[in-house]
Amino acid sequence: MKHIDSVRFCKEAQQLAGILAPVDLPRLAAEVLPASNFKVEWRAEGESPDALVLSLQSKVQMKCQRCLNTIDEHIDVSYRFQFVKDEQAAQAYDEENDEADALVHSRQFDLQELIEDEMLMALPLVSLHEACPDVGAAAFLPVDAKPNPFALLKNLKTVA
Ligand SMILES: [Zn+2]
Repeated sequence: MKHIDSVRFCKEAQQLAGILAPVDLPRLAAEVLPASNFKVEWRAEGESPDALVLSLQSKVQMKCQRCLNTIDEHIDVSYRFQFVKDEQAAQAYDEENDEADALVHSRQFDLQELIEDEMLMALPLVSLHEACPDVGAAAFLPVDAKPNPFALLKNLKTVA
């Protein structure tokens, strides 16, 4: 786990960067295809007095909801956070501000958990190819591959 002292991190405008793997981010690993074997490149930058900018880059594999084939999702996002002193202040901040989300200051702030949360938020709700590779094949399926229900009904009537 990667913990930071968020008060000092922001005040001293510290920077940290690294790479996380599926074993570090099990909740994210559960949301993408196991074959992804993704890397999350992250960078955290403190801004005095109480701001944090988190940048995330990754490529994960998900299942296209239209053709069910694998789709590469490129994640390249940057989020801005404002640290406040407690949960109550965080709630008040979030009600009044849209440009940044509030976080609660901690001497042991779990940066890795924040990275995982934000990666999960960055995943598309529904993955779809812009143009599915199999759409062409599906369009040429013979029309009479499935029995026509009206034809079946007609056969029944004839029997009766
Ligand atoms: Zn597709």
